[in-house]
Formats: sequence, structure tokens, C-alpha cells
Amino acid sequence: GICVLGSSNMDLVAFAERAPSLGETVMGTRFLTVPGGKGANQAIAAARAGGAVRMIGAVGGDNFGRALRGVLRASGVDDTALRETTEPTGIAHIVVDGGGSNAIIVIAGANGTVTSLSVHDEGIVTSSSVLLLQLELPIEAAIAGAAAAHRAGVRVILTPAPSRPIPDALFANVDLLAPNQHELADITGIRDPKTALVSLLEKVPAAVVTLGSEGCLYGARGLPPFHVPAPKVDAVDTTAAGDTFVGVLAVALAEGRDIVEALHRANAAAALSVQRAGASSSMPARDEIDAFLLR
Ligand code: ADP
Repeated sequence: GICVLGSSNMDLVAFAERAPSLGETVMGTRFLTVPGGKGANQAIAAARAGGAVRMIGAVGGDNFGRALRGVLRASGVDDTALRETTEPTGIAHIVVDGGGSNAIIVIAGANGTVTSLSVHDEGIVTSSSVLLLQLELPIEAAIAGAAAAHRAGVRVILTPAPSRPIPDALFANVDLLAPNQHELADITGIRDPKTALVSLLEKVPAAVVTLGSEGCLYGARGLPPFHVPAPKVDAVDTTAAGDTFVGVLAVALAEGRDIVEALHRANAAAALSVQRAGASSSMPARDEIDAFLLR
């Protein structure tokens, strides 16, 4: 199965023609509360794609926490290792203007309490076949999770988002790094994706860079990098496209599919998700992915 060690947030999204400047009040047009957090998003994407998924993380004992748990469970994610803390559920406070640009404040809340793994958590990690990590929990948690997984031969996939320095203690135990173009440039300081990817292989044995509508670029030590194009679709909302991609990639690899087939499935699922609004609500079910690939 798949273990996700990661964040759960409630996204509070306010839409207005123009974002207010400091000291100013503007009238908005719409407000949404949307379950999110990269950890929860990847867990939901993987479960919807047919994976057996367990999520390690934390929420508060509040309405947002209960709502997040409800969405995870409804998608089939095992939330028994999602702890309830006295800190409030993490939130992302988002303002979206008429042009679609956004400004975001994230409050870690309960996510910030996940600084280590319990013995029970370690058991979940080591009995999985794939561990999914992102950088929205305290870095100590990711380091501990990756180390436990690596010792047990569990494949570790890291989404290096949001961008922050990655200690070698984490890099050392990552099997597959999955940045988007911006994160790749932040990590390597190199703009050209192919050149950056090759330089990344000094740190990790394999990497896949997502390229939006262009699909993805995969590279592994000792192999020439190759490109897997994305299906052509009309995108309406690319929120969580990257999380859908990684969640579905993990399921395909856990099922023993080869990397080329797994990347095709991940591209297909992400392309399906960008045609619908929302994060978790836009993620495709397994039969939709299968049908899309047969088209
Ligand atoms: P992120 O959402 O993390 O910024 P990307 O924008 O690179 O990541 O998108 C992740 C994946 O989603 C891509 O590799 C691709 O498979 C799919 N995707 C994103 N945008 C589109 C699009 N316009 N058309 C088709 N697929 C897309």
C-alpha cells in the first residue's frame, strides 16, 4: 500500500475583483472552504485511483479537522494515524483576484506538531510499498519518515513543495524526486529543465519534473532522460494537478507497473483533473483513468 506523511489544510478562498492592500477593505464576490494540503491531496488522489492509502499527519479537534477527516474517509483513505491535536487545523488563507492571481497565507497549526514518528507510525511506513512526502510538515518528520522507509526498502517519493532548502539527510533517502519546473529551478539554480534534471541526479537516483500542459520529463542515473507528453485537454483549474500526478504515479508503481506506463497514467489522471474545478473534487476515479487511456 501507500503511506502519505503530510499536511492537511482547510483552504479558505476569497474571490474579489481586486485584492485589498494593507489597511483597505474591498467587497468580494465569492467565498469557498476547500479541503486541501499537499499531503491530504496526494492521499485522496491515490485512494481515488484505487490505492490502499494510509495517511500520517495531524488536524485539530475543530470543524475543519472533522471536515478534512470526512473527505479523506469518503475517498477511502485510512485516517487512523491522522492524529487530533490541541492546535487548530492548518489553514491556507487565499485571496484570488479577477485575473486569477492569488496571495496566500498558510498557518501550519496542527501540521506543525508533527515533528517525529511514533512507533505505530513507523510500522505504517515500513509496511507500505511507497512513501509519499512533501515539505509542508516540519522537516524533521520528513527526514524521519524517509529514513525509516529507506531502511525497510520502501520507495520514497518526495514532492519538494513549497520550495525550501532540502537537507542532505533527506535527499539521501529519496528514491524519486518530483518537482514542478519552478521547484526544479529553485533546487538546482538552473532554468533549462533537462539540464537541471541531469544535475539533480547527483543528489537523487531518479527524478520526474512536471511540465504543466507539456507533461513530464523523467530521468534516472545511467539512463537518457525522456519526455512523456500530456494529453491535450481544455484546462479550467490546475489546482492540485501536481498532487494528482504524484498520487496516481505512486499507485501505478505500487501495482508493479513499469515507470513509462506509470508516467502515462499519472499524466492522464492529472489531465482529467485540470478539466474540472477544485482540488480533491477534481481528482479522477480509477475507472475514469482506465477509460481515458483507452480512448
Ligand atoms: P503543479 O500543479 O505542481 O504546478 P504542473 O503544472 O507541472 O504541476 O502539472 C502537473 C501535471 O498535471 C503535469 O505533469 C500534467 O500531467 C498535468 N497538467 C497540468 N496542466 C495541464 C494541462 N493544461 N493540460 C494537460 N495536463 C496538464
